[in-house]
Amino acid sequence: MLNDKNILKRYLLFVCLVVGLCMAGLFLALALRNKILLQDQLIVQARANFRNIVLTRQWIAQHGGVYVFKRPGVESNPYLEHPDLLADDGRVLTLKNPALMTREISELAGNDDLFAFRITSLNPLNPDNAPDSFESQSLQSFKAGKKEAFLVEDDVNGGRLRYMAPLMVDKSCLVCHGKQGYAVGQVRGGISVSFKLDEINKSLHHNYFVIVALGVVTVGVLLLILWLFFRNMQQRLDKTQALLKRMATTDALTNVANRASIMTRLTEGFARHRRKLVSLGCLMIDVDFFKSVNDNFGHQKGDTVLQELASLVSDSLRPYDSFGRYGGEEFLLVLDGADADSLAFVAERVRAMIEEKLGKQSDLSVPVTVSIGATLATSADQSIDDIILRADLALYEAKDQGRNRVVLLLGEDSDDSAD
Ligand code: GH3
Ligand code: MG
Ligand code: MG
Repeated sequence: MLNDKNILKRYLLFVCLVVGLCMAGLFLALALRNKILLQDQLIVQARANFRNIVLTRQWIAQHGGVYVFKRPGVESNPYLEHPDLLADDGRVLTLKNPALMTREISELAGNDDLFAFRITSLNPLNPDNAPDSFESQSLQSFKAGKKEAFLVEDDVNGGRLRYMAPLMVDKSCLVCHGKQGYAVGQVRGGISVSFKLDEINKSLHHNYFVIVALGVVTVGVLLLILWLFFRNMQQRLDKTQALLKRMATTDALTNVANRASIMTRLTEGFARHRRKLVSLGCLMIDVDFFKSVNDNFGHQKGDTVLQELASLVSDSLRPYDSFGRYGGEEFLLVLDGADADSLAFVAERVRAMIEEKLGKQSDLSVPVTVSIGATLATSADQSIDDIILRADLALYEAKDQGRNRVVLLLGEDSDDSAD
């Protein structure tokens, strides 16, 4: 039974472990998926920004650049041959080509910490536009045919997502870059876009926290339900086992110990007797003329008499005495620690009580008596069979002597004595 409990406990632990691991895995996968989705979203946003810049550049390139009034702080592009124009009203206009426009807008964007972009190429006209390592690696990969590149850069400020895509040379580029040997369709540069990830990382961490908290609560609730379920099962199992044990050890008619059970008690008593030399008494009780009880009052009445007898004897015993039905209308009483005197005393008390009371509950018009064979375990006894045999002999003797009496038959190292 202890084994069953251990198996159930182990099973519960195993189930808890599996459920816990599955849920942890599920929530971890959710958290990772979340991160990937967010990153994908950022890349989509980076692509859109890149496309925006490219379209603006295309528009400017289609018009051969745009002129802006040259106010204080507005410099002429040193890489253009004739960037300045004198307007009719005397004001000076200076040409902004796509590269310069991109750089100047990127400088504006650079002031905004969240988003930045820059134009660069492997052979920039302006040394300020020289690529960093991510950009030069990306540019190399574009030459090899790659269409875009991205990277998550970790830094103390929470990291950045970097994205880069190539800029193809078209006719309008040749206005400025023609002398550098550019050809239409070539990849000569790219625009890199970057986003600060600290806010997103904060949201992600918050999300992780929510997911972990949800995971812990879900696993906790699941495990609690499992534990309650197993506890309920355990209680039912305990009850069933107790019932089975009771059924296996109890006599169905009289509700006292059955033969197997009373024999076990006798065996245990005999083992104690041998180990510690504690005396052990045994009474074999048999109903007198029980056949005629059945014949005269019916089998059912006979059953009631047996039940009455079992209940009368059980109620009169000390807690450490054992009483059971040996078979038919025969009962066995095992008395731990009884010597010859106390055995004879108890046997006589039982006999007298039965003579006085048995049959009253069953409404029998005649008294029902018992004969009792009594004996003590001796050092010569090899097993309980020797004790039973002697108790049986004593019982026969009691029957022979006229019934309704006790005969005490002691073993080899004791004197025989009758009631
Ligand atoms: P004695 O005084 O010599 O013991 O006579 P007896 O009639 O009691 O003995 P015998 O062995 O001749 O008969 C025992 C009877 O007990 C026979 C059997 O029908 C009856 N008996 C055995 N078990 C039960 C039972 O469970 N219920 C009932 N009603 N009778 C039983
Ligand atoms: Mg009998
Ligand atoms: Mg009998």
